[in-house]
Order: sequence, then structure tokens, then C-alpha cells
Amino acid sequence: MGSVPRDRWSSDFSRWFDWVIEEAEVYDYGRYPVKGMGVWRPYGFQIRRRILDIVRELHDSRGHEEVLFPLLIPEDLLRREAEHIKGFEGEVYWVTHGGVDPLDVKLALRPTSETNITYYENLWIKSYKQLPKKYYQIVSVFRYETKATRPMIRLREVTTFKEAHTVHDSFEDSERQVLEAIEIYRELFERLGIPYIISRRPEWDKFAGALYTIAFDTIMPDGKLLQIGTAHNLGQNFTKALDFKIQLADGTLEYPWQTSYGVSDRVVAALIAVHGDDRGLKLPPTIAPIQVVIIPIPGGSEEDKARVLRESRSIEEALKSSGVRVVVDEREDLRPGAKYYYWEARGVPVRIDVGLEEVETGMLTIARRDTLEKLKIPRGRLLEELRALFKDIEENLKEMAWNFARSMITRVDTIEEAEKWASEKKGLLEIPWCGREECARTVEEKLEVKTIGTPWPSEDAPRGKCPLCGAPAITIVRYAKTY
Ligand code: ZN
Repeated sequence: MGSVPRDRWSSDFSRWFDWVIEEAEVYDYGRYPVKGMGVWRPYGFQIRRRILDIVRELHDSRGHEEVLFPLLIPEDLLRREAEHIKGFEGEVYWVTHGGVDPLDVKLALRPTSETNITYYENLWIKSYKQLPKKYYQIVSVFRYETKATRPMIRLREVTTFKEAHTVHDSFEDSERQVLEAIEIYRELFERLGIPYIISRRPEWDKFAGALYTIAFDTIMPDGKLLQIGTAHNLGQNFTKALDFKIQLADGTLEYPWQTSYGVSDRVVAALIAVHGDDRGLKLPPTIAPIQVVIIPIPGGSEEDKARVLRESRSIEEALKSSGVRVVVDEREDLRPGAKYYYWEARGVPVRIDVGLEEVETGMLTIARRDTLEKLKIPRGRLLEELRALFKDIEENLKEMAWNFARSMITRVDTIEEAEKWASEKKGLLEIPWCGREECARTVEEKLEVKTIGTPWPSEDAPRGKCPLCGAPAITIVRYAKTY
């Protein structure tokens, strides 16, 4: 255990992340003979599943219906929308053979599903009366990534792609849907305590085939931005490309409007990254596969040992019957200190130590994973105290994560200040902008950053000028290094 020093969260985040997903048995990465593909291990799978439960709840409660479309998309269908295929061309995996026979039409492993979902919507939806229609699916998508791959963050098989696809009888209704998508993701990230920044991506970095893209990013411990969700207004691009028309209320035929929005494995990566510390994971109690671990502290005699174990099991039983996810660590070959290390790495929110003293006084010793504080709680009030503690831990994790994120945002007015930022600081940089691509590209090159986009919702135009060309600024624009 612990071959890598545990003090890497802020100083060497990439190594910390690789260490923590292995140490906590979340995700096995880098050992499979296909690059960019990993394995969700049982503990990680449970974290992922609880996040997906929230994702499903947020979509279902707003009238989305879960579906499952085919993994394979024929080449001619994928090519229907010209901009779309241009955006994905270099990243598509193709199935070219069935057994030993070459296929007449190559089949793509879906990089995303706008084309094959629109294909079916065209068959199913004939009238405005059936709209709005909101589908979503949670599937693997495949991208032949040529950049360096990273566990959960840049994969060739994205295993947890939740993609939603909607159809509308007017542009206005599709605009309203983009707002709902933003509301869904806001609530998701609020519940997970993940800080987010919402930006409208620049024209040159929007989703291939969309009118525009709104993106959620979070700031990782090393100051780089991670895109954790996107929402696109697709306009009529795909419905025109697939000749999909509906009857409107006035009897005319028209191409309907669409949106799509997605989140991926990166939500789990963000949860791990923004809350972690040098000791490992720190999981919010709602997500933690195990919320409480009980560590029996062995006393002297066999009889004392038995009393401690009896008391530990009885606490476990009481908590379990009240719906708390709890285990007693009864392993005899590990000392309590090694058990602490083990469960801290796994991010279990609360630990209860039970020794002879606790048995005799009825006062339990509780350790919080988020603050590492120790508390004394009377056994008789354990359940209600725990419920309050869970809530407090949840709030505290969220607050700490937001405090860090806010500390990583810098606004400057001049290019000199921007250059100073680039040499000293990391995170998100905001500068007044004239709106011209050329000026943003110059900043990208000078500072070796990427244009993240403009604030959403848009802010009042900043006073002052674009520091590149001197023209009046119409907005501010954001830059950062990104994953
Ligand atoms: Zn300019």
C-alpha cells in the first residue's frame, strides 16, 4: 500500500489522481492492452451508480424518457450532416468487417448519437402535438483520441456518456430547452458539491453541427480546466440533413428544432478531484458506497475483545436497520492505524472507533473524514447526530471546493497583467474582449492557453477596451489551460 507519497493532491495532481483511483480501487487503468480503456471496479462502480441515479432522477422528473439506440451507425447516415462528420472524422472507430467479409457500408462505433436518434425521430414524430420530445440514454461512446489518454478524463471508450436529445416545434422552445439542460446540470453539480463555471464556447470550438454550445467547466487542483458538461442548440441542422419534417399547428410542414446535452465519466473524475486530499478520496455521504466504518480497538483480554466486537456489531446492526451504509472492519491482521489509512483513502465520510472505554462510558469516538476532527457522541443519540453530521460534511465539502475554485479566477485589463498571470498563476483568466477571433487567438498563443468562452449568462459589457486591438470591449472572455 501507498508506494506513492500521499502529499500530492496539490503539488502533483496527475500522479495523485492515478494513485488514488488505484489505492481506493475505483478504476483500473493502463493495464489493458487497448489504450484509453479502463475498468470500473466494484467500489468505483458504486460511486458511478449513485451519480447516475441522480442523473436519471433529474431527467425523469423533467419529462425525459430513457431509451437505448444501436451502437453502430452506418457511414452514410453519419455523413448526412456535413459539419458534424467534419468535426468527428479523425476520431471515429470503424467496423469494416463482419467475420471475414468486408462490409458494403462501414459502421461507426457511435462517437455521439445525433444522427441515429434523428433517424428514428423522423419515423416516430409527425406532428407538433407530439412535442416537445425528450430522450436520453446512458451508453459507451468511442473516440479515437490522438492526444495522451487519461483515466476517466480522456478515454477512447467513454463508458458513462449520458446524452439527451430533444425535439421542438419552434426555435423559442428549443431555446427554453437549453435553459432546462443548464438547470439540470446546475442541480447535478450542486448536489455533488462540484464547483462549475458556465461559458458559451467560442464559435470555433462549438459542437460540430450545433448553432452554439454552452459548457460547464470545473477547475482541477492543478489549475487546469476540465469540461464536465455541454448543452447544444442544434437548430434545424440535423432535421434538415435527414429531411425530418413535422406538421405545425397552422397545418404547414416544417423542420423541427433540436437540442442535445451530455455529461460523462468526467463527472466522477471531477468529484474525486475537487474533494480529495493527500490522504485520498473524500466522498459526500450521499454518494459514498460506505458512509460509516466502525473500527474495533482491541482491548487486553479475550473477554474485552469480545465485548468490543459485540458492541461494534450491535452499532452496525442499529445503523444498518436505519438505512445507513456501514461496515465493521473486523480484519485481525491489520492494526487500527492501517485500517484508518485504508478507509481514509476510500473517502468514507465517518469513522467510529469502538474500544473498551467507549463500551463502558457509552460515549463513541467519531472521526470526520472531511476535517479529520474527532468528536464524542453518546451512543443513544448516534443516529440523529450522524444524520446532522452527514449534512454538515456535504455542505463543508461543497464550500471548500467552491472556495478553492473562486480563488483560481483572475480578471485583468491589460496584456501585461495577463502575461504576469500566465507566469505565476493558474486557473481561469478573464479579459475584456472585442469579440474578434483574431485577438483571442493571439492571447491563446502568447499565454499558451485555450479560449474557454464568454460568461453565461452574459454579463454587462465591461468598460474599457480589448487589450489586443484597442477596440471597445463587448464582453469579457475566459482563458485557461485545459484537460
Ligand atoms: Zn480585439
